[in-house]
Amino acid sequence: MEKYWLVNGRLADGTGRSIRQADVLIEGDRIVKILERSEAVPEDGVTRIDCEDNLICPGFIDIHSHLDWFAGNEGSRPLMMPFLQQGITTAVGGNCGFSTFGFPVTHPYRELLTDNLFRSGGAKLSWQGTDGFADHITGNGSPLNILSYVGHGTTRTAVRGYDSSPLSDDELKQMLDLMEESLKQGACGISLGLQYEPGIFADRKELEAVARLAAKYNKVLAVHPRASSAVSGTYPMKPFGTPHHILAVQDLIELAEKTGVRLQFSHLIFVGSKSWKTAGRTIELFRKAKKRGVDICFDTYGYSLGASRINVILPEWFLADLKKNLDDRTALKRLWVEIKAMEVVLGFGYDQIRVTNTACPEWEEYNGLYLAEIAAKLKQSKFRTLCDLVRKSRGTASVLMEDYSNPEILNAMIANPQSYFQSDAWAEREGVNNPAIYGSLPRILKLSRENNLLPVEECIRKMTGGAAERLGIPGRGIVKEGYFADITVVDETTISDREDERGNPLPPEGIKRVIVNGQMMVSPETAQTIDPPGDQMPGRFIRI
Ligand SMILES: [Zn+2]
Repeated sequence: MEKYWLVNGRLADGTGRSIRQADVLIEGDRIVKILERSEAVPEDGVTRIDCEDNLICPGFIDIHSHLDWFAGNEGSRPLMMPFLQQGITTAVGGNCGFSTFGFPVTHPYRELLTDNLFRSGGAKLSWQGTDGFADHITGNGSPLNILSYVGHGTTRTAVRGYDSSPLSDDELKQMLDLMEESLKQGACGISLGLQYEPGIFADRKELEAVARLAAKYNKVLAVHPRASSAVSGTYPMKPFGTPHHILAVQDLIELAEKTGVRLQFSHLIFVGSKSWKTAGRTIELFRKAKKRGVDICFDTYGYSLGASRINVILPEWFLADLKKNLDDRTALKRLWVEIKAMEVVLGFGYDQIRVTNTACPEWEEYNGLYLAEIAAKLKQSKFRTLCDLVRKSRGTASVLMEDYSNPEILNAMIANPQSYFQSDAWAEREGVNNPAIYGSLPRILKLSRENNLLPVEECIRKMTGGAAERLGIPGRGIVKEGYFADITVVDETTISDREDERGNPLPPEGIKRVIVNGQMMVSPETAQTIDPPGDQMPGRFIRI
């Protein structure tokens, strides 16, 4: 059993308590002692680690991740290492309605479940239930810990594919039973992806039933909202009506209030420069709801861009019969007009979309280009390029979308007491990568330092002890005797995300060490991540 004695560090223990001088003794997978500097030296057989006056923090918890689609799969480890290098020791997966469990042994929609945004993770979904997924992680090894929601999108797909009509009572029961089984086996809650198929088709009754189920187990309901911009295809267009993303927030506050569920609003963003002016009004809705006793919080990034699939910009009516509409002149005309309107009204359109992975072999050379650049290369319109991309990738091309917020909004969200910090990123095997794979949490610490947003111990608390408390993660998130030895050593004076001169993300500055369940995974001695064989990987599946 490895024993580490972390000395000469300053402790930010994850509770928000002020930083103090302390040494930390780790034995096996646990923190066994926190010592004042003056106390006696531990016995022999202990590896002394000089923390060089850096901060000893709990390992970071990424509250909104998709690494569950990567963990334990063949060849996926290099794609997980960047997250470890940014100090993350625990990732909360199963977000946006997509989980790696929650489907029965046999059902006709297997391909729909695997061919999604996170296909670069190579998940085969060859296991059964939450238990099966936990065994998959234990058996094949993961560099960091994973916990996961059960995805509404996944369970609904297993019951009836991407059919847009309402569920029958029998189908609703089947779906809830699948979710309940996952919750009993340790899923941390339920996630909804209301802007994706099939979550986009769920009606009020269905959403309430799902929320009540999460509330029954006192677990979190994480929601990718129906809209993230003033105008969106998921709500009917009404002149001078309430902006759609505000309607989406109001709907979810109402859902939480009615069902008593603990609601985590996923990735609060304001798509398009013209949505930005409503940020203050939106954040105020969260504050007022909390004041009334509604348990609602939100996730935020360190960047003003986000990853998604190309389908997300298509309106609900178009998605409802995607294949037919792609060949229907009238439907295409209507779509063209709506996207044009979106550009004018939102300040968001083709020019904000960068295709990170076209998801079709014949367009591989265009990975990393903006939609407009691909159109120029093909000498055709941007609209036609969009339609071709949707058709060729069956809507699954990965994109990075820009102008999700501005620095002022980002700062306000980071400083907000109801926010938690996320990466919401995954690495692609080809094409360009999202800067958030290496940089999301370091960048938040940097922004907080440079703009005086939060005391560093509070910023650390939100990404460690605060996140653990929010999700009910046992024994993690705090540097405390008896707790699991997930530790990140940070130089808070230099911490920063980094990129090369061509804009590709690089490992961040200022993450000195990362320890997962007592195992050293990032260390200055090796100047990089340590990559032990699969059976020696320290990550675990965490049941809630
Ligand atoms: Zn999402």
